[in-house]
Amino acid sequence: MKIHEYQAKEILSARGLPVEVGVVISELAQLDEALQKISSGPWVIKAQIHAGGRGKAGGVKLAKTTRETREWAKQILGMNLVSPQTGPQGKKVRKILIAPAVEYTRELYVSVVLDRKNQCPVFLYSTEGGVEIEELAATKPQAIQRVLIDPAQGMLPFQAREIYFNLNLPKENIAQGTKVFQRLVQTFLDLDLSLIEINPMVILKSGELFCLDAKIMFEDNGLLRHAEYLNMRDLDEEDPREMEAAKSGLSYISLNGDIGCLVNGAGLAMATADAIQYFGGTPANFLDVGGGASTASVTHAFKIILSDSRVKAILVNIFGGIMKCDVIAQGIIDAAKQVKLNVPLVIRLEGTNVDKGKELLKSSSLNYKFADSLNTAAKEVVLAVQGANV
Ligand code: GDP
Ligand code: MG
Repeated sequence: MKIHEYQAKEILSARGLPVEVGVVISELAQLDEALQKISSGPWVIKAQIHAGGRGKAGGVKLAKTTRETREWAKQILGMNLVSPQTGPQGKKVRKILIAPAVEYTRELYVSVVLDRKNQCPVFLYSTEGGVEIEELAATKPQAIQRVLIDPAQGMLPFQAREIYFNLNLPKENIAQGTKVFQRLVQTFLDLDLSLIEINPMVILKSGELFCLDAKIMFEDNGLLRHAEYLNMRDLDEEDPREMEAAKSGLSYISLNGDIGCLVNGAGLAMATADAIQYFGGTPANFLDVGGGASTASVTHAFKIILSDSRVKAILVNIFGGIMKCDVIAQGIIDAAKQVKLNVPLVIRLEGTNVDKGKELLKSSSLNYKFADSLNTAAKEVVLAVQGANV
């Protein structure tokens, strides 16, 4: 589960980290009241969306006067922000954060994520924090350093001191700085997070560390233990198709291409996506109907894929085990009766009840192409899209 910056800052503040939350508003009319709550300017106006890269996209602005603040607030609230993390369609800004602008001398990068290879959390840090961090990771990955964390012990004092010195931070503030790193790691562990990222972590004129930005992601499988944070979920920020799919127990993942994929099982979904890419296409999504789907949920799945206007062709790739091919076939036939199938459809079925499934499809009025292998199916669907794009 992703949360907003202001919510992440609330969590960090409650856990004794140096941060100032500010005031979040969703309408311009709330601005005056917000400004009254914050001492004096200058202010920073920040778009609250579930994506980073806001600064470069024009979603973070500094203002010296209340008038300037109003102008930026007016411009940012409601804007469609497009950053590398939002995808080309962008994200609508529904809330903005107004906070006192902070003066600082340097920007650092710190984060905690899970290192799957080493099966433990890893603390990442760099002296070169700020809005160019993605560029840095691509061109100078050695500038980002890593420290493995023992999940049972958290960050040990010697590790915190080593990081502190590697970041060339002032000796006088070592007690504050090392505590900040250790508390970030403890927050990650206590709340079962999948990410905590402070970029930038800044050095104030006093030499102390301060969290200027904050990004937190909860591990969905751990949320069960942290129900008190569930109300931080912002459904406006989530993909409506993913939510719709979840209602029927289906899992839908949105991607950036134009081929809709209906599959069973995450492994087959990835193999399907790979095969499509191999033949020069790009998947728009994959919808995994799992093992125990009913005709009704397959119909629902198919409708969800069809509701995406980017989808130029659909590939159904099912390897029936527990899932029966005739259930899939009937689901597709039913869906096509309820919504107009206006894109090419390629179907590959294999496994349990495949003959029954094929019979059902043949005797229906459905317009589709049958493929008898994954390769042929992927090739056919890519050709169909290329045909549609000519
Ligand atoms: P992001 O681009 O989505 O990561 O948003 P950030 O919150 O990191 O803000 C982007 C950039 O805006 C930061 O790297 C800073 O350079 C600048 N910025 C944000 N808040 C402040 C502030 O309070 N004071 C100053 N001087 N700059 C700020
Ligand atoms: Mg940032």
